[in-house]
Amino acid sequence: MFRLPEKLTKLKPYDPITGSYAVRLDANESYFDLPQVLKAKIADQIEQISFNRYPDPVATEVIEAFADYYDIAPDCVTAGNGSDEIITLLLGTFMAKGQTLVTVSPDFSMYGVYASLSEINVVTVQKKENLQIDMDALISACQKANAVVFSNPCNPTSLGIPRSEVIRLIESAPDCMIIVDEAYMDFWDESVLDLVTKYENLVVLRTCSKAIGLAAARMGFAVMDPYKTGLLRAAKSPYNCDAISQKICATVLREKQILQHCRDEIIVQTQRLYTAAVELAQRYPDLLETVYAPRTNFIFIKTAYAKEIFEQLQAAGIAVRCFPHGLRICAGTRREQTLLISELEQILQPK
Ligand SMILES: *Cc1c(COP(=O)(O)O)cnc(C)c1O
Repeated sequence: MFRLPEKLTKLKPYDPITGSYAVRLDANESYFDLPQVLKAKIADQIEQISFNRYPDPVATEVIEAFADYYDIAPDCVTAGNGSDEIITLLLGTFMAKGQTLVTVSPDFSMYGVYASLSEINVVTVQKKENLQIDMDALISACQKANAVVFSNPCNPTSLGIPRSEVIRLIESAPDCMIIVDEAYMDFWDESVLDLVTKYENLVVLRTCSKAIGLAAARMGFAVMDPYKTGLLRAAKSPYNCDAISQKICATVLREKQILQHCRDEIIVQTQRLYTAAVELAQRYPDLLETVYAPRTNFIFIKTAYAKEIFEQLQAAGIAVRCFPHGLRICAGTRREQTLLISELEQILQPK
């Protein structure tokens, strides 16, 4: 009888919130859509694509724009269909079946899913009570492991590990591949992107889905030394990034001023959201336990009432992300945040 493996049949589909909400603060996207002039420019360029031809397998134009924006060498960059594809690819090709990957918890949940599909053993190091990584414990776990992956700054906690601590890990575990997922590093300033040619065991991941504001276009990057970059490029499927996405992302990555302006605005809005949430937590300490100081474009609130608050916000047309011990709320426009805070206030008020 035809049998499918359990690693497949026990999978649960990724379950983003669907339906229509007046306010979407659940997916950590940028709240800026592209300016109309830029959309027109992109439309113009898309018109010139030969749709019958395969796209550039290396995504040269995107990689050059990306490398220029972050001031790194293009031959250290591999483009993928979102960093999700890059993660799958890295785990599936730079690791062998039965090897060990270290993850931390709480962190981005997809790492474990992709690892199990590649039949990789996962060892998870719990974070400390304050939700920070226990670096000594992580270094110790990495001594016996083949790779480690974590997000910095972290989704969902919004917290970051300083560059000096990441370097300590890289140097203390030279036989372990250190994969640092910097999906949110545009909002902080502790990147290790410049170190990929210094440390052979370092891989940095980036994406266009967050600060760059192109979640729709699906473009992510692995950054590592040119030798390993050549291997990853050889291992990926040749046409993983379509011609339309390549055009969109290359065009937008060249708009440095727009990108920096949007990033700065998002940081301001995140701080505003944080301040408002801290104020609510001070008024209702029994309901909202802790609001963490964010290094990202979202905040994380520790609360025993996550599910209740989440459901009431949902009923009011506001989508946030619910976790077992807290809520993750993404920065939105000033108007969206005002709506969110006043709704939260209603929910928390004694009835
Ligand atoms: C959003 C996110 C990604 C995602 O990205 P895509 O490039 O959209 O696939 C990767 N890692 C973390 C930690 C994220 O939060």
